[in-house]
Amino acid sequence: MFDKVLIANRGEIALRILRACKELGIATVAVHSTADADAMHVRLADESVCIGPPQAAESYLNIPRLLAACEITGADAVHPGYGFLSENARFAEILEEHSITFIGPTSEHIRIMGDKIEAKVTARRLGIPCVPGSDGAVESEAEALKIAKSMGFPVLIKATAGGGGRGMKVAHTAADLPLALSTARSEAKAAFGNDSVYIEKYLTKPRHIEIQVLGDGQGNAVHLGERDCSLQRRHQKVLEESPSPALNAASRKRIGEIVANAMREIKYRGAGTVEFLFEDGEFYFIEMNTRIQVEHPVTEAVTGVDLVLEQIRVASGQPLAYRQEDITFSGHAIECRINAENPRTFRPSPGLITQWHPPGGLGVRIDSGAYQGYRIPPYYDSLIGKLIVHGKNRDECMMRLKRALGEFAIDGIETTIPLFIDLVRQADVINGIYDIHWLEKYLGQHS
Ligand code: ADP
Repeated sequence: MFDKVLIANRGEIALRILRACKELGIATVAVHSTADADAMHVRLADESVCIGPPQAAESYLNIPRLLAACEITGADAVHPGYGFLSENARFAEILEEHSITFIGPTSEHIRIMGDKIEAKVTARRLGIPCVPGSDGAVESEAEALKIAKSMGFPVLIKATAGGGGRGMKVAHTAADLPLALSTARSEAKAAFGNDSVYIEKYLTKPRHIEIQVLGDGQGNAVHLGERDCSLQRRHQKVLEESPSPALNAASRKRIGEIVANAMREIKYRGAGTVEFLFEDGEFYFIEMNTRIQVEHPVTEAVTGVDLVLEQIRVASGQPLAYRQEDITFSGHAIECRINAENPRTFRPSPGLITQWHPPGGLGVRIDSGAYQGYRIPPYYDSLIGKLIVHGKNRDECMMRLKRALGEFAIDGIETTIPLFIDLVRQADVINGIYDIHWLEKYLGQHS
């Protein structure tokens, strides 16, 4: 096992990783920008290193500075969390070159899954069902039109290097295609420095259902069921739950086994998520994330498995502690992403938290680095915490969620809590009847 882990992240996930390290008896190093000197994970870590000014490029994304922090503190492993460098194959490779363990998959697996076209080719080879679409990048308008006509409209143009819902454009008819193609290309170029795009059939009423996996790099892998992340705004997840109201035990087992077998075949190491769209009873692979995800706690709630702790254990070379039959599912869990944003306009609302009173009680978990007197810096993502609620079934979970949301008191900044209070009163949310477009339609009608 490692002696000292450097946490190359900030916010709630840095604190989450720190907790797992403490339970394993591993010393922790926090790194932070000058804007994060007061962060909770910095206060709780055994050591901390300031790695630069607020801009992420100068701090959390700066590989030489992170390496220097490892050298100074003698850290023998790095946990990248999510975002920032968590899916940067070059970072994983550089660490390995310096005999520092990257807590995650091999750089080769990160690279394959980071390229969406290569990921789809790999998925198809491994027997994972995919969204119909182009076999590779589309080069010309004529080619795009030919593929779109053969599949039928609407189609979606997606960036090969995509992430965070950027570089994605729908074309409803042939007339829309040239503009969709050129805007997706320029958005992709601006966001990822790569204007390569491909085409997929645009599914009109799918749910987003993803499968959590854990592997040890030695050929052992398990799936931990699904998360339903269909409540989205601008292709970004807002609320997640497990199990999905749309799946039964047989469909869960079927897709779970396909995914776990694929992970065994490639000898996947660490935590990963295979994302699907689910429509009319069929699964369609869209991408794989080779890291821990924001919404991992809902899986932890229903399986009792500490995913971050397992990431660390397998990265240190230990075999997986679970066989598939050891993974059992209990009850229902829902996560709400609490953002420092206006709940109607979604404008970021950084600033001083003058009151912070999170809910508690049975089945309530809060993952957050926020506290009373904490000043949210304006430079980063607006996620300030996650409320995760667990109950013995979906009804109990919803009941508990309503209660917990009502208890949450935050002053000084605006948050998305009022949006969740509205959502848990809507019949479709109560009944679990929603697809990936539901939330945008709801927001459109209530703005
Ligand atoms: P990113 O990496 O940018 O998050 P994804 O491929 O994971 O991109 O897709 C993000 C979201 O975009 C999905 O959850 C879904 O809402 C929507 N989406 C992606 N592909 C399709 C598709 N073929 N049809 C309809 N919606 C899609």
